[in-house]
Amino acid sequence: MCMIRCVTLSRRGALKAAFGAAGASAISRSFLVQDGASAQSPSPPSTGVRVVLLGTQGGPNYTATRGECASALLVEGVPYLVDCGYGTLAALKKAGVNHRQIAYVFISHLHDDHTADLAALLNRQWTDGRIEPTTVIGPYGTAKMVEAVIAFGEANTAIRLVDEARSVKPSDMFTGRDIAATSSPAEVFRDDRLTVRAVENTHYPAESKQRMPYRSVAYRCDAPGRSIVFSGDTSYSSGLVTLAKEADVLVCEAMDVAAMRKAFEGMVARGMYADNPEGVWRHIVNTHTPLEDAGRMAAEAGVRTLVLTHIIPGALDSLPDETYLAPARKTFRGEVVLGRDQLVL
Ligand SMILES: [Zn+2]
Ligand SMILES: [Zn+2]
Repeated sequence: MCMIRCVTLSRRGALKAAFGAAGASAISRSFLVQDGASAQSPSPPSTGVRVVLLGTQGGPNYTATRGECASALLVEGVPYLVDCGYGTLAALKKAGVNHRQIAYVFISHLHDDHTADLAALLNRQWTDGRIEPTTVIGPYGTAKMVEAVIAFGEANTAIRLVDEARSVKPSDMFTGRDIAATSSPAEVFRDDRLTVRAVENTHYPAESKQRMPYRSVAYRCDAPGRSIVFSGDTSYSSGLVTLAKEADVLVCEAMDVAAMRKAFEGMVARGMYADNPEGVWRHIVNTHTPLEDAGRMAAEAGVRTLVLTHIIPGALDSLPDETYLAPARKTFRGEVVLGRDQLVL
């Protein structure tokens, strides 16, 4: 049973399974009422520090049941976004998180399964009438990517500025900010609700980093009463362990290597990764986190709860939950939660 307060929005059965009928109604009454009022737009938690898993599929593999990587952090109902893979905008709407209210987006790295919906999100914020600034924070390349998002929306902007007599432009609102990927945790953001620190993780091998300026980071979000760490994509990372020290929740990517190899061979047989399948496989197996290592990092950091996300192979294979949970529990004695899209923690 999930000891922390985790629920899947709009699934009353899952609530009851997790808490029993009484617990579900006590903990989640506010959004169950909303859910009843409008099945399509549940109301996310408006108090405390909560995480909504928006996309939990590992890799650039959008599926019907698991979207690409994204999580919303809600601090007293105010949303912040961590990563923005394909499907994020739809997942925000499904969770009832107002995309127009997102003022800060934290990108762990610039692989497209973490950024693909940024153009959709920002341009739709503008189209739907947000007029306040939105800042996208991430490692090298983030600022340039936001400029590209604005360029992507140029025609839409030009049409609506004329046709709807609007005055605020996306270029007035959207800013990207490149942060350094440091070897020890460094503060990258602070407002009156939240402090965010980042550290470089180990998603990019040293030999790759010698040939490109791009980097990959993990984030720690400290808000009153609760600290949440997002691993980003990484293999075992001592920097991540340091960042996550004594955190309440570590949201960590996780991979079943053998199951992914089987899924990968099927994908190659269907024509995927035609350019260099073994190069892709090397990337998958060397730069992600086997389940035992997710547990090991959680144990070494001394976190309370380990939440598995960016699940590999995830929805590419229908494995029982225990396939993921058991190896992580071998190395971590705390609570382990298998992430699912729309799970609220
Ligand atoms: Zn990824
Ligand atoms: Zn990646």
